[in-house]
Amino acid sequence: MKVFFSFAHPDDETFTVGGLINKLYSKNKCEIILYCATLGDAGKCGEPPVCTKEQLSEVRNKELIEAAKVLGVNKVITGSFLDGKLPESKNDLKKELENILQEHKPEIVITFPSHGISGHKDHIAIHEVTTEIASRSEFSFIKKLYYSTYPEEIKGPRAYLEKMTEIDIVVDLSIENSETVKKALLCHRTQNQSVNRVFKNLLNQVPFKKFTNKEYLVKALDRDHTIDIKNLY
Ligand SMILES: [Zn+2]
Repeated sequence: MKVFFSFAHPDDETFTVGGLINKLYSKNKCEIILYCATLGDAGKCGEPPVCTKEQLSEVRNKELIEAAKVLGVNKVITGSFLDGKLPESKNDLKKELENILQEHKPEIVITFPSHGISGHKDHIAIHEVTTEIASRSEFSFIKKLYYSTYPEEIKGPRAYLEKMTEIDIVVDLSIENSETVKKALLCHRTQNQSVNRVFKNLLNQVPFKKFTNKEYLVKALDRDHTIDIKNLY
């Protein structure tokens, strides 16, 4: 069984589903593939700066690989797109993602919800492209599509939150899962400002708690009731 995560920037994986990835890894029942469409070249370089703006994509690529290893991702695939340009690159993004999905044929795909959690236009573009591809009959090997989201009960700096009744799966994180998420967050050194903004007590909180120590999924496509992410963690 293959589980394919489809995101826009290095760090999206840790912020959204870092705990879920770590749970899947712990049970070892599936291969975990992470696609990241950009190398986050439009982001910040860290405070104090970790690198120059010119070095940012290379450094963020390394940070992504490091964080993915901490969480337990089996394979990282980085896309060829510029940070902030996914809406303009949707046709090319579609072609690239189609090829990658055809090559790997994952049974389960997970991406952003329609509002991208933060409203970021790249998050919305990767949601739209991933959803469009997954719904087509040539991609019927994809049995389940889920959106990673957060409900209204999480009080945080998020622009868009789901009603709890919209949530299909609540993933409980163990202390170990959350501590692993913390380690992965700290791999994204260039993003220390956004990491510290979202998780204000990251360094002081022992053990670390990722919000309520839960992650949340909405089921968007179901071609086979017998295949369920819950059976894999
Ligand atoms: Zn992002």
